[in-house]
Amino acid sequence: MIHRRRSSKVVAIGSLLIGGSYPIRVQSMTNTATGDVVSTLAQIRQLADTGCEIVRLAIISPSEIEALRILRTSLRRDKLDIPLVADVHFSPALASAVIPFVDKLRINPGNFVKLREDNTPEESGKNIREIFVPLLKILKKEGKSLRLGVNHGSLSKYILKQYGNTVEGMLASIVDYLKIAQEEHFEALVLSFKANHVPTMVQSYREADRMLAKNEFPAYPFHLGVTEAGNAAYGRIKGAVGIGSLLLDGLGDTLRVSLTENPCEEISVAYDILQATGARISRTEYVACPTCGRTHFNLEKVFNDIKAATRSLKGIKIAVMGCGINGLGEMADADYACVGSGKGKVDLYDHGRCIERDVPEDEAVARFLKILENRKSGS
Ligand code: SF4
Repeated sequence: MIHRRRSSKVVAIGSLLIGGSYPIRVQSMTNTATGDVVSTLAQIRQLADTGCEIVRLAIISPSEIEALRILRTSLRRDKLDIPLVADVHFSPALASAVIPFVDKLRINPGNFVKLREDNTPEESGKNIREIFVPLLKILKKEGKSLRLGVNHGSLSKYILKQYGNTVEGMLASIVDYLKIAQEEHFEALVLSFKANHVPTMVQSYREADRMLAKNEFPAYPFHLGVTEAGNAAYGRIKGAVGIGSLLLDGLGDTLRVSLTENPCEEISVAYDILQATGARISRTEYVACPTCGRTHFNLEKVFNDIKAATRSLKGIKIAVMGCGINGLGEMADADYACVGSGKGKVDLYDHGRCIERDVPEDEAVARFLKILENRKSGS
């Protein structure tokens, strides 16, 4: 069952809005040294060209703040308005210093404030408040947003001692931050609960949604991701299963597919997940049968040729089926279809109506595209 999208708060990341009914945004992270301005700038441009909508950068030392300033100036000069996010661990001072140069800050509650194992809950809350409130004040003054990004693998010792490495611990690690943000009237928050173990990741977001509602916190937007997913087919499958499950639940406002590859590779996977779950339609939807002994034309070639010619069309469904036995039922809701009709022959359909019969397969693609063209021109 597909659930309705969760009604989340709208949060601005620079000029881009996320949450609410805005499209689920695709983001990635550079893997260049941020201080290497030339390489980082080139990678941001490549990411933007491939469809990335938000770029995160690791900031590990104060020397990189100057690099960020140059990056922003260069991007503005090129009129490339892509929001930048600084990812800062361990250093509240660095996190504060970087805010004016980015659109959003990401901190990890597991390491932002050092909490001792033997802290009482009161001490822990006090320690967080002392460091977190000044950060919120700067974010507010600068009009910037904040992601509280919990990672299953980096919970604080204080949380680990009480809850162990559990989903419960992941949620507990963020509660003090949420309470303080609410007291300070800071609502430009985005939340994430990532894990490399897909069931843990899926469960943590589902429970986070319930936890926010139960505690009457605002429905902050969720940033989805399976962290350290690896690479190649299995990395993509992990991302698709984790992120896809949550999208089908109606959860998620922005996402990152983590791959141990060039980050540009993450973008097409992200759009495929969005398309397959129906969460964001950005191109043609294809249906094709796996072929069997009833297929009497080169379906794979016809399918690939049709795909190559129609990839940029948005919001239509095209089916390529080997035969009419199962094919007609499977393609019933397709806008256009090409269905095997005999040896080396296909029938072409326009919105369920067969309009050309027994077309030789080597003419099939051209005649199919002609049908689409005629439809477009209204003839
Ligand atoms: S649609 Fe026809 S050719 Fe394709 S797998 Fe099904 S039965 Fe086989």
